[in-house]
Amino acid sequence: MPVLCSAKCGNNAILKRPKTGDALCKECFYWAFETEIHNTIDNGKLFKSGDKVAIGASGGKDSTVLAYVLKLLNERYNYGLQLFLLSIDEGITGYRDDSLETVKQNRDDYEMPLKILSYEELYGWTMDSIVAQIGRKNNCTFCGVFRRQALDRGAALLGVDCIATGHNADDIAETVLMNVLRGDIARLQRCTSAITSGEGSITRCKPLKYTYEKEIVMYAYFKRLVYFSTECVFAPNAYRGHARAYLKDLEKIRPSAIIDIIHSGERLQAKGTIKMPERRNCSRCGFVSSCEVCKACVLLEGLNRGMPKLGIGKSSKVRLQQAEVNRLKTRINF
Ligand code: SF4
Repeated sequence: MPVLCSAKCGNNAILKRPKTGDALCKECFYWAFETEIHNTIDNGKLFKSGDKVAIGASGGKDSTVLAYVLKLLNERYNYGLQLFLLSIDEGITGYRDDSLETVKQNRDDYEMPLKILSYEELYGWTMDSIVAQIGRKNNCTFCGVFRRQALDRGAALLGVDCIATGHNADDIAETVLMNVLRGDIARLQRCTSAITSGEGSITRCKPLKYTYEKEIVMYAYFKRLVYFSTECVFAPNAYRGHARAYLKDLEKIRPSAIIDIIHSGERLQAKGTIKMPERRNCSRCGFVSSCEVCKACVLLEGLNRGMPKLGIGKSSKVRLQQAEVNRLKTRINF
């Protein structure tokens, strides 16, 4: 016996929404999905009319759906945005080279200008060559630090006001869990914000903050969007993997667990009690940093000196200073 759409449109339901359990027809699912993203944008004041927005595009499901929905909402609600695609080529053979082809397809399908920046041109290293030197243990630390700065550099080149990223509700709930487990209160404060900005750094926003991963996959499937679904070949990231598996188990028992964890993270913010790092400019590359030398320059220094562990871990600043002392000692001895 067919079930009627619970939005009372009179059509038969064809799916059960993972987030709410509602039985919906395809059109009512699209409307609910898109309207929730619009509400996140509107309530969080993520954009202003006239803003130039770079969508961080990897070719994966999240950024593909983000590009598609932002274009649609921009037209439906007259946001007045100028949209761009910004991709970072980490230099990972068999992964990023293929996914960039999907981004080029997005560029053509959604008629958005695309800018691609590579680690090789920015840092002189690809992730393939970094992994060849450091192995697979800390590769994501290098990749994450370099990508964050590369996106800022790309945004500066495009002259945009904001970078919109495809982080979804599952990603944010995972990050809340990881920060709770690590006791990292400073990061816990920031990780649930839909919009982050600071003096000298480009604004970043997450319009899919409350959107479930399962619904993103469903939306992309029904809309027949082209996206790339292979995982990165260097993707161990064991700690996040455990948080993800734990979250998926919780979701099976109680689907609202994802949104509940995000709301808990939002309420756990202990404003005023945590000293946030002062923002300044890196004395080497000039990019925004919380230290004298930014993390990207510290990591790069380690790679270029054949000491890749120099920038890993909390004592990296001490190691960098020690390396500088050793370098000077060697020079004096000569
Ligand atoms: Fe980079 Fe790690 Fe993500 Fe691969 S899994 S793209 S190495 S951060």
